[in-house]
Amino acid sequence: MDNTAAKNWDNDHFMHPWEGMDSLGNNDRTFVEASDGVYVTNDKGDRLIDGPAGMWCVQVGYGRDEIADAMAEQARKLAYFSPFNNTNSVASEFAREIAKRTPGDLNHVFFTTGGSTAVDTAIRFVHFRNNMLGQRNKKKIISREKAYHGSTYLSAAVSAKERDPLWLDKLTNIAHFLPNVNPLMRRADQSIDAFLEEKVADLESAILELGPENVAAYIAEPVLASGGVIVPPAGYQKRCIDICHKHDVLYISDEVVTAFGRMGHWFASKEVFDIQPDIITCAKGLTSGYAPMGAAIFSERLIADVSGQHGNGAVFSNGFTYSGHPVSAAAGLASMRIIEKEGILEHVRTIIPHFQDRLQGLADLPLVVDARGMGLMGCIQCAYDKKRDSDLERDYELGARIDAACQERGLILRPMINMCVMSPPLVITSNQIDRMFDILEDAIRAVDSTRGSA
Ligand code: PMP
Repeated sequence: MDNTAAKNWDNDHFMHPWEGMDSLGNNDRTFVEASDGVYVTNDKGDRLIDGPAGMWCVQVGYGRDEIADAMAEQARKLAYFSPFNNTNSVASEFAREIAKRTPGDLNHVFFTTGGSTAVDTAIRFVHFRNNMLGQRNKKKIISREKAYHGSTYLSAAVSAKERDPLWLDKLTNIAHFLPNVNPLMRRADQSIDAFLEEKVADLESAILELGPENVAAYIAEPVLASGGVIVPPAGYQKRCIDICHKHDVLYISDEVVTAFGRMGHWFASKEVFDIQPDIITCAKGLTSGYAPMGAAIFSERLIADVSGQHGNGAVFSNGFTYSGHPVSAAAGLASMRIIEKEGILEHVRTIIPHFQDRLQGLADLPLVVDARGMGLMGCIQCAYDKKRDSDLERDYELGARIDAACQERGLILRPMINMCVMSPPLVITSNQIDRMFDILEDAIRAVDSTRGSA
């Protein structure tokens, strides 16, 4: 397919996320033009296994007629109407179906346009509630190094992703960041148990230092996704929620990546990590990526704090034109039905051990400093010198080189600095997992054999 014209349009007009200003207008991005199952096809006609499921989101795979038909039917019936004074039955049904699957009493679903706006909504709500409870100073949000919660001003403020510190401002009065929870970072003589104790103590010390009367919430991805699939030591999440509740600090579990099957359950908080958060944020897999949508989901207790006789006539003036968009809700409902009908959660639970085994099998290869993951999420962290301090994100181009070598062999990954992450569509089969890791092994060896010639 000849995309010469589109390449020019892309360079001249389409500003991409995380756009590098030096290369603006001069990029050579690969066009992805078609898809089926766990595969995407680029403009050269190569059909590649989609290692990151788009961006952690295409749960049920590509080319699902059921979802396309549901969206088309809804668009013909009612493409859109304002959710402010009116409502629509498909979004109401979707809210109920979500609430049926959330842990405990997380029954109130505020629909947003994506993950960042879900996080914004969660934080605005927490502040709103604390104001109504007369706790006007209780506003600080505790987050963690390597966390990613979004790209709006507020969600970026609680993210620790490095952004251009010279040119991009950050709201600095709201967030406090805990040190890295990656077990790889522990001192050589430190046991995992000791590391766990240290990380839990980091949270409690931060709450006490800031003053519990000033700390509104702790926000945490169960597994830090965009930070490089960082899996905190076992038991960490449970210990943290206990500390939060001891000090009257709310727990926001950011499940934008981990919900809707990636860990083998609708939500990971309760089933996988044994925690009952006060708020869950989600997006991505909510519609399997077929349409933009996110949600902040609140517990009965929080809603009781601000409503009924406590309401004081207040209005939670936060909302989006596209909150509860009918076409997105139709996509979400259709995706949910597929997950249920095809037993995809059970399938994921069955294949996770194989995926993780093959991932661990990469650890002994050249270049690979760490192979880590959980559920259907994996990451390899690489360095030319494996013995060097393993956290250093030095060999900047290594992730991109490995991804390029994979693409030549039929697999697309998500390179990030010196890492590559994987989170394939949940419908991936055992054979396709083997194919994926066979390609990756071959690609890593190929990149290693050309070291020095980058
Ligand atoms: N939270 C988490 C955990 C995420 O991974 C992301 C996106 N990668 C977001 C929030 C932001 O979501 P969105 O890009 O849909 O705004």
